[in-house]
Amino acid sequence: MALNIIIDKSTFQSLSYNELLRLTYYYKHNITPILVMEILGDLKKEAKDGNPPSQNRVIDFATKLFPSSTIVNEPYFNAITSELSLDRPIEMDGRPMVNIGKAVQTKDGAKGWVVGQTPEENAVYQWRDGKFTEADLALSELWRNTTTQEDILINLKKQLQEVGEKIKLKNFEELANYVQDSIDDPKNQQLLLMDLCRSSKINVFTSMRLLKYWQSKGRPLIKNIFPYAYHILKVNTLFHVGLKCGLISTRPTNKVDLEYLYYLPFCNIFTSNDHLHVNLAPLLLREDQVFIKGVDLKADLSTINEKLEKLGEEEKGKYKKAPPIEPNSFTFNMYNKFFDYPDGFQWRIPSKPLPKEELIRKMEEFISAADGKPIDLKHGDDGEFVVRKSYISKKDPCMCGSGKLVIECCMTEQQFDDAARQQATKRTDNAN
Ligand SMILES: [Zn+2]
Repeated sequence: MALNIIIDKSTFQSLSYNELLRLTYYYKHNITPILVMEILGDLKKEAKDGNPPSQNRVIDFATKLFPSSTIVNEPYFNAITSELSLDRPIEMDGRPMVNIGKAVQTKDGAKGWVVGQTPEENAVYQWRDGKFTEADLALSELWRNTTTQEDILINLKKQLQEVGEKIKLKNFEELANYVQDSIDDPKNQQLLLMDLCRSSKINVFTSMRLLKYWQSKGRPLIKNIFPYAYHILKVNTLFHVGLKCGLISTRPTNKVDLEYLYYLPFCNIFTSNDHLHVNLAPLLLREDQVFIKGVDLKADLSTINEKLEKLGEEEKGKYKKAPPIEPNSFTFNMYNKFFDYPDGFQWRIPSKPLPKEELIRKMEEFISAADGKPIDLKHGDDGEFVVRKSYISKKDPCMCGSGKLVIECCMTEQQFDDAARQQATKRTDNAN
């Protein structure tokens, strides 16, 4: 059970190292590929007076993406193509959508999943060490050129205004109603479904199969049969109609910011300072999801940090897994809402934790299973465990949650180097 949060770049760059660290104690940071891309985009940003050189900015940002307490979501187009190709249903319950590498089995016969690493995750690990490839630089350049192209949305707006009726909408509430009526109109469903296939680059055969399937089910509303495709459709329609009637501005970065909204189903909480997000996110979130402005989240984390700083080490340690009880705190209120904290919270902690040796033995069993041969387990089958490997560097905060660097806490630098060497040998052994 975790509180999954998606953070856009405006909020991400506003949070200090310590605020982000505090955030990872209480939330699972679901990193969207668009955030990774935006961070890389800074690489080719020209350094302005008083600002650190762009390369250092990217290293700084990558260092704030703590690998052991974050997860990188799969790119949204994997989800939309999977759903429209009838490959697998997309679960939209606030959990991140991760790249399942393979199913495996332990010696004792327990079955589970291994989470594969995404290219974005690998890239971030490299950037932390200041390693940028030629491809990173080229991609960054391309990204900057396309995202700063002034007329991109001006042209789109013109095109939208040339087709169909003129739309007059006064505010975002009217926009929401207009869009809802239009995408839920039974007469529009077939056309919308085909449009979705086209914009998601689904090939003709797959599109036809989808259409047949949809007809065989009695032509239901898209929202009742393809929930993720419906979400994408709603985001895009809100954006296009909003642009057409002038509620949404033609600022070129709006196109980039739109992409965060595609990931909303995979979080419990979304945070941003961006205008577009502030206006559109509330129209797109489910009732059990929450939007908070980045400045408010920052203030909350900073207040918690200040409060805890005044406490002694032992007292402070109590708040590693749950926030201080503070009726005005956003984080506290989220814990209260989602976990019935503090009263109903005890269940999250196992009544009898396994002894340390037993825990290590179990972990080793899972790790060795993860390195083993894949077994046949269907998507959607629960499995008994999930293994996700993550890396830690000397510059990372300790996994015990002390807030200190790992080599100043649970491991000496010597132990760290030994462990790293061991892992490296293991990797070359596997490769041979
Ligand atoms: Zn530690």
